[in-house]
Amino acid sequence: MLLGVPEGPPALSGVFVGLGANLGDREATLRSALHAIGQLPGTRVERVSPLYGSAPVDAGGPDYRNAVAELATTLTPQALLQALQIIEQSAGRERPYRNAPRTLDLDILWFGDQVIDTPELVVPHPRMMERAFVLRPLADLVPQRVDASALSKVADQSIEPLQGPGWVAGV
Ligand code: ADP
Ligand code: MG
Repeated sequence: MLLGVPEGPPALSGVFVGLGANLGDREATLRSALHAIGQLPGTRVERVSPLYGSAPVDAGGPDYRNAVAELATTLTPQALLQALQIIEQSAGRERPYRNAPRTLDLDILWFGDQVIDTPELVVPHPRMMERAFVLRPLADLVPQRVDASALSKVADQSIEPLQGPGWVAGV
């Protein structure tokens, strides 16, 4: 305890969030989402992957910008999901139909080693292993946790690194 400031629960690290945007100023949206995530109570952005460009999967619209961030947080998984949805909404996210183009998509990929299966939240994210735009930036952050066979299964998807890990500063 620091001079009367009560200690909260210890932050859980190893929380990974996938970020995607394919409408508007995509890179600026991802940067401000990362800043907003870093302002959430009890939450720190520990590391951010390089920025990628990827073609939409099963959908039309402009190319995506994608990245993955590693967080440490004292929030529960449900509270983090709610907070991420508020950040999506403030970026103008609409959900007119499945896989519609979006200003901002924030998905919880891993939450430590927790396994969650509820109507609102499934962790690990059920479709992450099918998506190069998740696996490639995740492999940049934690290569030991993304094996070569997983990457080879998504090798046909069009994706390219655009900027190194310094593309977002001060989160
Ligand atoms: P998607 O990201 O699959 O394209 P949406 O962003 O529209 O789809 O999310 C649809 C719903 O997925 C959300 O309302 C949320 O409750 C649910 N969901 C389930 N698991 C997760 C997760 N791990 N991360 C984010 N959303 C999730
Ligand atoms: Mg989503």
